[in-house]
Amino acid sequence: MRAVKQLSAAFPQGWRTRFAPAPTGWLHLGHAVSALYVWGIARAFGGRVLLRVEDHDRGRARPEYERGIFDDLAWLGFEPDEVAPPQRERGAAYAAALAALEAAGLAYPCACTRREIGALSGDFFNEESRYPGTCRGRALDGAAHVARRVLMSDEMESFDDLRLGAQWQVPSSQCGDVLVRDRRGQWTYQFAVTVDDRDQAIDVVIRGEDLLSSTGRQLRLAQMIGRTEPPRYLHHPLIRSADGSKLSKSAGDTGIRELHAAGRTSGEVLGMAALAAGLVDTPRATTIAELPALFAR
Ligand SMILES: [Zn+2]
Repeated sequence: MRAVKQLSAAFPQGWRTRFAPAPTGWLHLGHAVSALYVWGIARAFGGRVLLRVEDHDRGRARPEYERGIFDDLAWLGFEPDEVAPPQRERGAAYAAALAALEAAGLAYPCACTRREIGALSGDFFNEESRYPGTCRGRALDGAAHVARRVLMSDEMESFDDLRLGAQWQVPSSQCGDVLVRDRRGQWTYQFAVTVDDRDQAIDVVIRGEDLLSSTGRQLRLAQMIGRTEPPRYLHHPLIRSADGSKLSKSAGDTGIRELHAAGRTSGEVLGMAALAAGLVDTPRATTIAELPALFAR
């Protein structure tokens, strides 16, 4: 594993990154760790931070969570250089990107339910089930079936993660043809972020290792929607609960609001995040101004 501090040469002049939480719960310590990486690396190496609310999941997004994102980041001292439009306002851009793929014969309607796909791929209990291509070539009525998938050819995608080094992924064997719009007409995470990252000129994506396996398919989608210069990626380690499980939004004891309400200062919470991320060895309060030194020293 490479140290981030050796990477100053990897960042182009005036580069852009983003912090992109979903308003489907309150921010917790895991988000603070991610924000610390995003802002710390951007401030250390001359990048700009765009804040994007990823509310593509209309069934789970709630306005109070969206307000919470802005309030908690402001309290912690994470100031974005730019705020992107939320994904609910980007439907026309996603529709145009899909229309271009359909015109090129690279997307097709899908009539499958989630349950059918799980049964077909024999992988129902696995978090990632592979779509077996059931509706490829079925000539379904696109008006009656609004879900769309994009063809994933069998090539490998390789990329150089700025922290983890060389990576190889084959999207067609990981997930099959990628769902870009679901049965309810909602845009999927994979497609929305790829179109957003292109349109918002994101050069470096800094995010948790839980999304490492999505990178190959996002690189492929980016090429397919005409992005010539793909973004670089840096996947940071995830913090774990005491029992070793991944922190979730339901982990109320690490909620930023709860810590705030319990009388913690923002400096103490940043210190907890830096300690949880392994960026400091001892528990101590820290400030936003000190973050770049954690990466650039
Ligand atoms: Zn299908």
